Parts: sequence; structure tokens; C-alpha cells
Amino acid sequence: MSTAPRLHIDAPLAAGATLPLTREDAHYLLNVMRRGEGDPVRIFNGRDGEWSAQIAHASKKAATLKLEAQTWPQQGVPDLWLLFAPVKRQKTDLIVEKATELGVAAICPVMTARTQSDRIKYERFESIAKEAAEQTERLDLPEIREIDKLDRVLDAWPADRVIIFCDESGDEADEAWGGARGRGQPMASALAASGALPAAILIGPEGGFSPAERERLRSLDPVIPVTLGPRILRAETAVIAALTIWQSACGDWR
Ligand code: SAH
Repeated sequence: MSTAPRLHIDAPLAAGATLPLTREDAHYLLNVMRRGEGDPVRIFNGRDGEWSAQIAHASKKAATLKLEAQTWPQQGVPDLWLLFAPVKRQKTDLIVEKATELGVAAICPVMTARTQSDRIKYERFESIAKEAAEQTERLDLPEIREIDKLDRVLDAWPADRVIIFCDESGDEADEAWGGARGRGQPMASALAASGALPAAILIGPEGGFSPAERERLRSLDPVIPVTLGPRILRAETAVIAALTIWQSACGDWR
């Protein structure tokens, strides 16, 4: 396991090429990681695998790298999207970081009836995802989608992709879903039945899903309602739990 720092740089990677670093990347390498001229660095751009490089030139605030050779061929993550309703800022940041580590291909914020915050700072999401991808040794970044209303996302949903709908409801005797249609299936057994199809996992906001949302979701063919057990998990916990189950059952943890 190399200890050379990793950087995502969106540039063509070829032997002998020199790459100027952004101020942020130079700061990270020189001041945070305390590296200097001649030190090794690992570079990936999401298309050409991972490459070895050296710091060819370093000044106080700038640095350029010299690319050497490809050390890992390009490899993507499983075809899994995360649809989630933004929650409080720190928790939403945590969701973006953990979803990147847990290998989602796309992060799709959705506005639901009970979503509190619709302000999404994409630049912040992008830098969290970049840092997490560098640390977790991914060879690509997750795609970060524009926030959209859940209804609109469902209107345009691709027929070949299942939606694993994490539904926190189920046992209220006087509720529509508590009785006849009750709790969703346990996620692990639901996945065993559905197999490794292109998938999305849907996680609601602190306030949960509205009855109308639940009604529509449960009426759609690609939707598989699942339970994450008898306790109500915070959204960020549910994201981590659901992604872990999916990667273990269908993804690249097998
Ligand atoms: N405020 C709601 C819970 C919302 S938890 C209530 O108290 O009922 C936030 C989201 O996490 C939910 O919308 C759901 O997507 C997911 N979640 C939490 N616990 C879950 C569980 N036991 N089963 C399935 N999904 C769960």
C-alpha cells in the first residue's frame, strides 16, 4: 500500500506529461502533506486509471508534477445511485463523504414534501467528494446531480433501474401501510430476490416520507419498499446502512 498522496486531476494523463496543480492541490501536497520536490504522488482523472508522478517543481504556493507511468488500470464502481433528501448541513456533508467511500456512482439530492433545506452548495459537495475519493482510493469521482423534486425524478425514471425505497413506516396499526401493506421487506432478502440490477437507493428527510409520496412510490414497478429494521435510523445512518447492505449483496464487496 503506497503512502504517496493521491490527487484527482481532471486532465489527460500520459507518460512524461507535466501537470500544473491548482492552488488547493498545491496547498494540500506542500503544506498539509508536507511533500516537496522529488516526492512521489499518485494521480487519477476518472478515465485513465491511476498514474505515478513526482513533484517536479515546488514553490511556496505552486507546484507542478511530472507523470511517470500508469500503476492501475481504470476501474469504475457498481452502477448504484443514491437519492437522498438533504438534511442539516453537517449531516448532508457526511452523507456525501460516506456515499463516496461506499462506492456510489451518482449522488442525487431530491426535494421531498418534508425536506427542510433546499440550498445545496455544489462546490462544497464536489470538494468533499474529491477529498473522499482521493482518500478512499477510488479511481473516479461520484457524479453529483442537481437537486430536483422527487416527483420530477420519478416522472423521468429509467425503467431498467430499481429503486430501493427505504420506508421507515410500517407498524402503525391505524396507518395505511401498517396494516395490509405494512413494512417493506427486509433489505437483504429483497436484494437476494432482485439481484444486482442497476439500482438506486432512496432515503428520506428527518421528517420521513409523506403518505402521498409513499402512495406514489409503492405504486411504481421499479420500486422495492424495504425496511432497515424495527428502529428509526437518522437519515445519515440509513444511508450508510443501506449502502453497506447493497454493496455486500449486489456490489463490489462480494
Ligand atoms: N421522521 C421519521 C423518520 C425519518 S428517518 C419518523 O420518525 O418516522 C429518515 C429516513 O431514513 C427515512 O425517510 C427512511 O428513508 C430512512 N429510514 C430510517 N429508519 C428506517 C427504517 N427502520 N427502515 C427503513 N428506512 C428507514
